[in-house]
Amino acid sequence: MTAFDTFVVVDWSAGKRAPKRPSKDAIWIGIVQAGAELDPIYCRSRIEAEAWLSEFIADEAKAGRRVLIGFDFPFGYPSGFVRQVTGSDDPLIFWDWLESRITDTEAGENNRFEVAETLNRCFEGPGPFWGKPFEGRWPEVPYRKAGITYREHAERRQADLAAKTSSSCFQLFFNPTVGSQILMGLPMLSRLRRRHGVKVWPFENWSVAGTVLVEIWPGLIEAAVKELGTDEIRDSAQVRLLARAMAGLSAELLSAMLTDIGDAASEEAWILGAGRNAELVDAARAPLAFTPPPLRNDCFALPAGVDWTPVDDALALLKTRIDPVVGVETVPLMQAAGRVLAKDILAKRANPPHPNTAVDGYGFAGATIGDGPQVLPLMDGRSAAGRPFEGDVPKGHAIRVLTGADLPMGVDTVVLDEDVRVGGGQVALRGPLKRGANTRKAGEDVQAGDVALTQGRVLTPADLALVAAVGHGALPVYRRLRVAVLSTGDEIAEPGTPVGVGQIYDANRPMLLSLSAGFGFDTIDMGCVPDDRAALRGFLDQAAAQADVILTSGGASAGDEDHMSALLRENGALQEWRIALKPGRPLALGMWHGTPVFGLPGNPVAALVCTLIFARPAMGVLAGAGWHDPQGFEVPAGFEKNKKPGRREYLRARLRGGQAEVFKSEGSGRISGLSWAEGLVELPDGAAQVKVGDPVRYIPYGSFAMG
Ligand code: AMP
Ligand code: MG
Repeated sequence: MTAFDTFVVVDWSAGKRAPKRPSKDAIWIGIVQAGAELDPIYCRSRIEAEAWLSEFIADEAKAGRRVLIGFDFPFGYPSGFVRQVTGSDDPLIFWDWLESRITDTEAGENNRFEVAETLNRCFEGPGPFWGKPFEGRWPEVPYRKAGITYREHAERRQADLAAKTSSSCFQLFFNPTVGSQILMGLPMLSRLRRRHGVKVWPFENWSVAGTVLVEIWPGLIEAAVKELGTDEIRDSAQVRLLARAMAGLSAELLSAMLTDIGDAASEEAWILGAGRNAELVDAARAPLAFTPPPLRNDCFALPAGVDWTPVDDALALLKTRIDPVVGVETVPLMQAAGRVLAKDILAKRANPPHPNTAVDGYGFAGATIGDGPQVLPLMDGRSAAGRPFEGDVPKGHAIRVLTGADLPMGVDTVVLDEDVRVGGGQVALRGPLKRGANTRKAGEDVQAGDVALTQGRVLTPADLALVAAVGHGALPVYRRLRVAVLSTGDEIAEPGTPVGVGQIYDANRPMLLSLSAGFGFDTIDMGCVPDDRAALRGFLDQAAAQADVILTSGGASAGDEDHMSALLRENGALQEWRIALKPGRPLALGMWHGTPVFGLPGNPVAALVCTLIFARPAMGVLAGAGWHDPQGFEVPAGFEKNKKPGRREYLRARLRGGQAEVFKSEGSGRISGLSWAEGLVELPDGAAQVKVGDPVRYIPYGSFAMG
């Protein structure tokens, strides 16, 4: 058996259409999709839920994912029941029997009590179905259970006994109304089966099916649901935790639950995990661990014998060495801006979903309009956005339509208000009009099933508009990368505090923390550490325990007081990256207990340049966003410079009057120049004679973004 990628739990309902505002006793659907917990879906009617399931099953199949869907009502009846009704022991024949008889509407009006009467007629004496809202209606369904004998078949199935459920498949009214849920649920399952070829456990061979339907019972994880005590609606919590529990089970345990079933299961069905409450409760309690494997300790190793690596070579190497290190979570759309998308997002519906009118005007069948003046009788009523016209518009008739309104049946073309005269129940216009004029076709923007956004994308406000339009309310995103920032040096003092002789303020930490926050990361301020190996070790331990990546500044060279590099070397994972770059010193790249460390130069100018050029794209990969080179562009130089060959240079620069001007001093301690600048001018590795007006590459600070 191959494992499942996606787990869905459906809390079914036999009730009327549920209110708009999410509430209990409606249909709730819990989902763990490819390791990511999504927010439970709320459906107001069975018809809505069935449509959602249908679409979901198709989408998952398209995406190549294997899906297990659990429903909280019995898939079968006690042995002997089905034979009495259909003459066969095959429970699926009974599903079809029911499907051909049960009717349902968007409002939830259905004929289940009438069908129960038909069923009761197949059996001697009162029952087996009982319970109804009105004593006086449906004479063949007893109001109470008293007097029903259950002699021809049992009242409960083996699975109900094993799971210790208190409900009966035959109780139609008064809680629990499981009997009604089955009558209204099996027809839906029967259709899903026919439409999508899904397999039903344990009746059919499900071992290689793409989608498998199983019976579940939320009562099995009641202990975990009780512990929540939040204001989450109980039904929502149940499906969420049960989906999580199924997703969290080890493959062996899930496989055991699917194969360890009672002997009557092929007739009566089985409850997945019946009698195994403890294991399910444990799985429901544990948040899903979905984290990628850690980076390897030698990921920063440079090829032997290489000295002063060119910037591009260093970047190319770095790019191949690292992978995302963050797990996945689901966030509501409204909070997803700036987050990194963890999966491709498919359009759940088309945009626009229906053909509609792009203007205020009059709609009709385009084929009926010839050249020259035309007069069409105007129908009563109109189609407005959100209030479509329900009827048909016969050929040769016109109807009032307002921008955004669905085109009524029979309408495919719209004429603008400005181009008609209206009066006496008629519309006059002048042909010819192109068929389809002034309308938007369904899916002309995005088709259902299209990839709307791809994994790794840093979500923009416009992206959110797009995925909202195509049906998403929450998105799977990577957890935020946690970045710990640490300064080192005996001379470094906390900003704003009194300082002693020989001290300078920590300029790097506020810069690196805010830079990281600006990249969309969670930051952890680790403070300042003196040049003391034991202290530094303690700080690194703490940082590695809390963060996905550590940025340190200072002490990264090979001097006596350069404890950062010494410690990383001791730990066996230091790589000194000697990069042919100005401003810059060797970068100390290493791993501290599995957490990557970027040991940046102490000099603030070098620290910023090395962060922007090296740490930033690398952190983009760690965060799941992939590698993004900064967007630079050529501008005329507003300065002169004679550059020696041998290393890449970055000058603090800004654009004025269409030219790049550079800071008056290249001194790498000049923090004022960093602040003066609005970007960097990048000069090539080789020699360069820059004259005023020569093209140079300018990269605005704003281009050093994640996306
Ligand atoms: P180091 O890399 O430790 O040799 O430091 C290089 C230069 O940068 C020295 O002048 C340090 O004093 C200075 N420096 C180191 N860390 C910081 C910091 N956090 N803020 C400001 N200057 C620093
Ligand atoms: Mg130092």
